[in-house]
Amino acid sequence: MKSHFDVLVIGGGPAGTTIASLLAEKGHDICLLEKAHHPRFHIGESLLPMNLPIFEKLGVLDQVDAIGIKKYAAEFNSLETPLALDTFYFAKATNNSPAFAYEVRRSELDEILFRNCQKKGVTALEGMSVTHTELNDSLKKVFAVDEQGQQHEFTSRYLVDASGRDTLLAQQLNSKHKNPKHKMAAIFGHFKNVERRAGKDAGNISIYWFQHGWVWLIPLKDGTMSIGCVCWPDYLKTRDTDLNTFFHNTLNLIPKISQRMKDAQLEGEIQATGNYSYQSSIMSGDGFLLIGDAYAFVDPVFSSGVYLAMQSATRGAELVDQLLNNTSTDKQLISQFEKSVAAEIKAFCWFIYRFNSPALHKLLMASDEASQHPVKQKLKSAVISVLSGDAYNNSQIKLPLFAFKLLYVIHKLVEFKENRAFAKFKKQQLKGE
Ligand SMILES: Cc1cc2nc3c(=O)[nH]c(=O)nc-3n(C[C@H](O)[C@H](O)[C@H](O)COP(=O)(O)OP(=O)(O)OC[C@H]3O[C@@H](n4cnc5c(N)ncnc54)[C@H](O)[C@@H]3O)c2cc1C
Repeated sequence: MKSHFDVLVIGGGPAGTTIASLLAEKGHDICLLEKAHHPRFHIGESLLPMNLPIFEKLGVLDQVDAIGIKKYAAEFNSLETPLALDTFYFAKATNNSPAFAYEVRRSELDEILFRNCQKKGVTALEGMSVTHTELNDSLKKVFAVDEQGQQHEFTSRYLVDASGRDTLLAQQLNSKHKNPKHKMAAIFGHFKNVERRAGKDAGNISIYWFQHGWVWLIPLKDGTMSIGCVCWPDYLKTRDTDLNTFFHNTLNLIPKISQRMKDAQLEGEIQATGNYSYQSSIMSGDGFLLIGDAYAFVDPVFSSGVYLAMQSATRGAELVDQLLNNTSTDKQLISQFEKSVAAEIKAFCWFIYRFNSPALHKLLMASDEASQHPVKQKLKSAVISVLSGDAYNNSQIKLPLFAFKLLYVIHKLVEFKENRAFAKFKKQQLKGE
C-alpha cells in the first residue's frame, strides 16, 4: 500500500470528507483514514440552509436532496410563554441564504460524502483506526491499525485531524478543555409513528423548552422521528431507572410531545452522550490542523455542528492548498483561518449559552408583536439568519443583532429576580462534576 501523501486526513465524517475532496480537486495527493465502515450510525441529522452551497461545491446536492426531507423552518415550543409555538421560516432571513435545509440520516449523508471523495481521487480507507501521530518533523507520521490488527505507518507534508468527538490530536496534545460556559448532555433515540406537522412544515425541526433543558424532534424521510433530550447535569444525576424509562419519563413532562408520541414505537436503543461541550486550545500548528468536532463542539440546539464542520473544512482546504503551494506567508494565512473559524463558532455561542435563560426564551417567543412591528420583524429576520448559518460576514444583521442583544440585557434587568435565579442555577451546573 502506498504510504506517503501530500495530506493525511484522520476521520471520514463531514469535516474530513469535505477537506479531502476539495484538496483532491486542487490536485493534491490525499489519503483519508476512517476507523468505521460507511454506512455507519451518527447523531446530528438536522442541517442548515448554509450547508447547501457547500453540498453544491462538492457536487453532491442532488444526492443529498434524494435522501433528505426539506426543512423550511425551525419551530420553537414553550410551556411558559403566552405564545406556545412559533415557526422561524428560513425564507424570512436577512439576505439570500437558501430558504430551506435538509433533515437526513447521517449514515446516508456521510456515505455520500465519503464515496464522493473517493470519486475525486482521494485514497479513502475504511476500517483503519489511527492510534497516534508524530508531529515534530516536517514530515508528519500517522500510525494506524486495520481490522486484522495489522499496523500501518503513513507520512505526509500536512496532517488534518477530523476525528470528531474522538478528538485524536487534542487528546495527544493535551489541549482539550471542557467548555467553561456550557454543560449539558443528550439522551436520544429513533421512533416510528410520531405525529408530524402538516404539508410544507412536515420536515421542520421542533424544539421544546422544558424545566430540565430542551428537546428536539427531527423528522426523517422514511417516517422515522429522531428525538433527543438535552438536559442539565443535576437532572441527569437524578436517574434511578434504566435509560429507556428515564427518557420516556422525561418526554412525558411535555404534554404536547406525549400527544405526538401516543402511538410511537422505539427503533433500536436509546443512547446517551457524555463529555458534551469542549474545545481545543490549539486549532493548528506546524503542518497540522484540527477541524470540525475534532477542534470544538458546543451544543446541537441550532443544528450547527455539520455546517461548522464542513465550513471549517472548506476554509481549511483553502489554507492547506496555499501552504502546500507556498503562495503567501504562513503566519498571516493561519491567523486568518483561525479567526474566521472562531468567529463562526462564536456567532452561534451567544445564543447557545443563553438558550435556556428566561430572557432569551421569552425574547425568542415574543414574535406575536414582532409580526406587527417592522423593527421587531427586522430583529427576527436577523435571528433567522443566525439559525440559517448565515451570521458570519453578514453585515446587514450586525445592527439588528446588536439591538436584539440589547433587548436581552434590558429583559435581564427588568426581570432581575428570575434571571438572577437562573444565573445562580447555571453556575451550579457548570461547577458540578
Ligand atoms: C447529541 C447530538 C446531537 C447533534 N445534533 C446535530 C444536528 O441536529 N445537526 C448538526 O448539524 N449537528 C448535530 N450534532 C453535531 C454533529 O453531529 C457534529 O458536529 C458533526 O458530526 C461533526 O462532523 P465531524 O466530521 O467533525 O465529526 P464526525 O462526524 O464525528 O466524524 C468523525 C469521523 O472520524 C472517525 N474517527 C474517529 N476517530 C478516528 C481514528 N482514531 N481513526 C480513524 N477515524 C476516526 C469517526 O469514525 C467518524 O466517522 C449533534 C451532536 C450531538 C452530540
